[in-house]
Amino acid sequence: MRRLRPDVVSPVRRGHEQTVLGLLRAHGPLNRGELSRRCGLSRTTLHDTLSGLLATGAVVTAMPDEAPRGRGRPAERLALNPAVGQALGIDFARRAVHVAAVGVTYEIVGAAGEAHAPGLPWPDRVALAERLVRGLVGGGLWRRALKGVGVGVVGPLAGARDGTLSGVEALLGERFGGPVLLDNNTRLAALAESTWGAAAGDQDALYLRLSYGVGGGVVAGGMLHRGADGVSGEIGHIPVDPAGRPCECGGTGCLETVASIRAVLDAYRARGGRGDDLPALTAAVEAGDPIALGLLSEVGGQIGRVLAALSNAIGPRVIVVGGELAEIGAPLLRPVQDALDAGAVPISRHRLTLRRAALGDVAGALGGLALALGESPLLSRYPAAEPEPGLADSRAAGCGRAPARPRPALTPLPSPLVSRG
Ligand SMILES: [Zn+2]
Repeated sequence: MRRLRPDVVSPVRRGHEQTVLGLLRAHGPLNRGELSRRCGLSRTTLHDTLSGLLATGAVVTAMPDEAPRGRGRPAERLALNPAVGQALGIDFARRAVHVAAVGVTYEIVGAAGEAHAPGLPWPDRVALAERLVRGLVGGGLWRRALKGVGVGVVGPLAGARDGTLSGVEALLGERFGGPVLLDNNTRLAALAESTWGAAAGDQDALYLRLSYGVGGGVVAGGMLHRGADGVSGEIGHIPVDPAGRPCECGGTGCLETVASIRAVLDAYRARGGRGDDLPALTAAVEAGDPIALGLLSEVGGQIGRVLAALSNAIGPRVIVVGGELAEIGAPLLRPVQDALDAGAVPISRHRLTLRRAALGDVAGALGGLALALGESPLLSRYPAAEPEPGLADSRAAGCGRAPARPRPALTPLPSPLVSRG
């Protein structure tokens, strides 16, 4: 595993680098004289900045100008290196892998994903992530100059990780070469929705994902909340039915046991509905199936009561609901809204907005990008993960938060990634 290094680039230096990278992105290859005239940096500063960018591989020397100038050698031209990037984000969800990438000038290159069978072994999931990244960034893996790989996994990541997850972290480091930062994948989705999606610009937001698992994330006072032991956002394990079904977490009747995709499908069939998957349930809803509509009304009510209780505790302005189940739309979300209206304290009842998530199933991978770059104001007080024995260096390098740095010039998401409404 490559030895990981802390990011020691100063904010000023970072700004200079972004200036130069932005010029090369806007104008294509330029020689040093052209860069100097356009960037406004002193000769020495430009020299130092270019040396750093050439050393990391972010910038490469391109073909010289075709026409020799006088008797001297043609001026060397400098260009962005298409084979390097800033950061990768990977979401290892329960039944799919999603990846996203930020290029050398902080542009979001794109995102990709692929479903897999539940329980796919970790080496296969990592191999799938590698194939998706290669497809996204043109065959390479951007091993040079990569600032980090932000990786979302299921679970709160509290305390000492099991051997499997440490092994996964090491494997990812070997494959991708950058510092690896692990976090809860749903919290990363909340980070992405608060950075680019349905809660962008909101300082107080609650995110809920209804998928094969149920989880969430909390943004309070403009900060992503991690909580003691990384437990913040485990909304799926709030009990809603004391006489309910046993949950994976060891509890009974958690929200996840009634509002996960599997739980909803099981309940639908138990009531006489016919459908083995989400598309079948969606079709039944669209056809006006009273069993499906009645079930979703009940499930929506349970979700809404949990959200109302959470809202009264933490005071969000916006609640974002995402995940495949939320794509059913109004038949599920209207009862959520009704229960929220009934349960939220009067002062927030008419100011609290319920929104559908905007980033779809790539939100977790996009949140991984934000985590890897580590420069979002939402992360400025995000606590470092606990170091793993034997991984102390890498954890310190990957998760130690630097003091507040300038916000990166992340470009807006490509429109196919954003689906508002
Ligand atoms: Zn549970």
